Amino acid sequence: MAVAEVPTSPRAHRFEAGVERLRVAVQAMAAVVRDADGEALGEALIKIREAGIDPLEAVFASGVRRFDKSGEYRDQGALSVTDWLRSRCRLSDGAAAERVEVARQLERLPQTQAAFANGDLGYQHVAVLARAAEHVGAAAVRKEEASLVQTAQTMDPGRFTTVAKNFEHRVDAAGALAEANHAYQRRYFHLSEPQDGIVRLDGILDVEGGAMLKTALNALMPAPGKDDGRTPGQRRADALVELGRRGGSGSKRNGAGPRPQLIIRASLDTLAGIPGAPAGELEGGGTVPAETVQRYACDSAISRIMGQGELDQELNHASRTLPASTRRALEARDRHCVFPGCTRPLNWCDGHHLVWWTRGGATALPNLALLCRPHHRMVHEEGWALERTKDSNWKARPPIHRVPANARSA
Ligand SMILES: [Zn+2]
Ligand SMILES: [Zn+2]
Repeated sequence: MAVAEVPTSPRAHRFEAGVERLRVAVQAMAAVVRDADGEALGEALIKIREAGIDPLEAVFASGVRRFDKSGEYRDQGALSVTDWLRSRCRLSDGAAAERVEVARQLERLPQTQAAFANGDLGYQHVAVLARAAEHVGAAAVRKEEASLVQTAQTMDPGRFTTVAKNFEHRVDAAGALAEANHAYQRRYFHLSEPQDGIVRLDGILDVEGGAMLKTALNALMPAPGKDDGRTPGQRRADALVELGRRGGSGSKRNGAGPRPQLIIRASLDTLAGIPGAPAGELEGGGTVPAETVQRYACDSAISRIMGQGELDQELNHASRTLPASTRRALEARDRHCVFPGCTRPLNWCDGHHLVWWTRGGATALPNLALLCRPHHRMVHEEGWALERTKDSNWKARPPIHRVPANARSA
């Protein structure tokens, strides 16, 4: 950079002094935040964005605009100013592209620019306005800029996005439709091959698809009980799997229902939990520990276990399938998950064999219990013991010696 090469020029001096003052200001705010608590701490956080981060983003944007026009980034080997921001300013692709868009549009949105510079508008609100300008043209936004800027100050960026979308639709319905169609074209969903015991999900949905999925997931996410230690992310993940589990079979959960959701290939040794037995193989790829195979063996409505030779005979021989009448009797007796303190409803529950089916337990009411999936998992994979007491209550004992070595907590 030219300024760095001539450190004695007035411009270089101003650069150094500016950076130094910025550092001093940051340190001063660090001290304020360190000493503040309660309401004062909240106030400090608000001020950091209002008087610091957002106005600095405005300054950053005006610099990016000029840097973009100058083409200087090319001399530094970058293909575009976005590319330069990504590699030199530590921004992700998306964050860099958004800043370039904001920089380019702000020039044409004077009221937005002014409100941004003095801290009245936050960066994310400005990004929403810049996107609207990109979609319908800055001139259309300028016609309603005053009211849009005013509205932005009364709501969070998420809600303001809805306002901006409505505005776009009003001034350019065809454009809004094209955008929706474009979003739909971009849809994809990727499910990785299992690796190290996990499967990664990644994807894009259009707004309608996203809303539909969200509604379905929310319906499967009852309000967390007070003993529900799961994070919101874990609860959403459980809901997604539950959605998959219910997918083909609807609410029919009596062993006689339609095809099972999971096909596992396992050996007799695995089912019996004999040390050194191979893992269970999922038909769709990936392996699961013996404990998981045993859990799935508990309730054949959700899985079909396949094996070779002797296991096939064993499977045919055993009546592990919960007959519809037994399932109904079990539901009438237990009414919800029986794990102490848990009330997850019937349709979340598997039929669990107290003496595991794999150890010769009968598929009969006295040997059965309803357990929700997380608790069913705790019993099989995490070594918890579940007992029915003489007075027909349920008792759960935490694992004494071990969590099965091959059970993952993730
Ligand atoms: Zn079980
Ligand atoms: Zn439960």
